[in-house]
Amino acid sequence: MKRFNGSFTQQEPIPEAGIAAAMDVLRHGRLHRYNVSPGEAGEAALLEEDFAALTGAKYCLAVASGGYAMATALRACGVGPGDAVLSNGFTLAPVPGAIASLGAKPIFVEVTEDLVIDMKDLEVKLDRAKVLLLSHMRGHLCDMDRLMALCDAAGVTVIEDCAHTMGAAWNGVPSGRHGKIGCYSTQTYKHVNSGEGGLIVSDDEAVMARMILLSGSYMLYDRHRASPPKEAFEALRFETPNISGRMDNLRAAILRPQLAILDEQAQRWNARYRAMEEGLRGTPDLYLPHRPEAERYVASSFQFLLPGWEPEEIERVVGGCVSRGVELKWFGAPDPAGFTSRYDHWRYVASDPLPQTDRVLSGLLDMRLPLTFSEEDCALIAQIIRDEVTSAKSGRAAAE
Ligand SMILES: *Cc1c(COP(=O)(O)O)cnc(C)c1O
Repeated sequence: MKRFNGSFTQQEPIPEAGIAAAMDVLRHGRLHRYNVSPGEAGEAALLEEDFAALTGAKYCLAVASGGYAMATALRACGVGPGDAVLSNGFTLAPVPGAIASLGAKPIFVEVTEDLVIDMKDLEVKLDRAKVLLLSHMRGHLCDMDRLMALCDAAGVTVIEDCAHTMGAAWNGVPSGRHGKIGCYSTQTYKHVNSGEGGLIVSDDEAVMARMILLSGSYMLYDRHRASPPKEAFEALRFETPNISGRMDNLRAAILRPQLAILDEQAQRWNARYRAMEEGLRGTPDLYLPHRPEAERYVASSFQFLLPGWEPEEIERVVGGCVSRGVELKWFGAPDPAGFTSRYDHWRYVASDPLPQTDRVLSGLLDMRLPLTFSEEDCALIAQIIRDEVTSAKSGRAAAE
């Protein structure tokens, strides 16, 4: 029986240009973003400038993590204790965590079997909150034009969680540029890797000034480059608390060369995704999420559904795959394992039941697609999954 021997958690090395830039920072020792010599911009300020240019945003701020980015964005939009924030029922724990960190309460919206927010359920719930923290979970983009039309009409501010959509776009508009604020993560498992880190973009002058002050600018905000003019800070500088969460020059140095090759990496990810899709297309009782024409995705992970399957049957698939080296994460498991937690596991935030999301997640399987996999590896992984899915349904052992 064929077996896969690769690692689902092994990243590619940092590009040599990033290693060289990091060594420069280590040698001069000015790691703090505001510790610059006369005339020097500093890597963090340059990274912000690079990322603003890449996304077409007026302003950008580099921070300590994606979770910090979201909490800061919410705070800058005036979300406080007791406020309701709309969000997807299918997302990762840092999203409800960011809401909970402000003492706010999420109102979760149902997800569709294409793994995007359900517009009908959103419409019903829109009048219950002033802000939507929209998570593009696992890189699936909803119809952003429709979503923005709905939210604009209802006066709901949209903050985008682009942890899985850095480099993606909807109808040519970069992900993170539809809403008022776009938040990204540069944590190891995302599209660029600095271990930990986050980026925030916005065109809103006051909101960005507030976020820069919140991140802990020690009144040195004039050392930023992709930032609003000095006057934008005047009215805010004495009223905005310092909740330190800056990015340092070392991480920024590692990231800049990775941004330069983001497009290239996206194509490599997508080639792997297509190899998986091709290998699984037409498998009976297996659903592949639809990827609309308008969506430009960056597929750093792969999902498929086994709709209506019994838990024991899915466990058989997961077990069969694991024994052949393929690690699938199942979102329907009764207890969270690794990153597969569900809204009903987040006991710090109460939620009404989401029957449709429950149904979708009960059949949802997920895996990473690290760039250390080749397209041949992906074809083999797809073949193993196909075998195991086919045999689990028929109750036989997988074919030799
Ligand atoms: C990783 C992730 C984040 C941000 O995570 P950090 O670890 O705080 O950088 C946000 N949303 C989703 C969906 C994520 O997967």
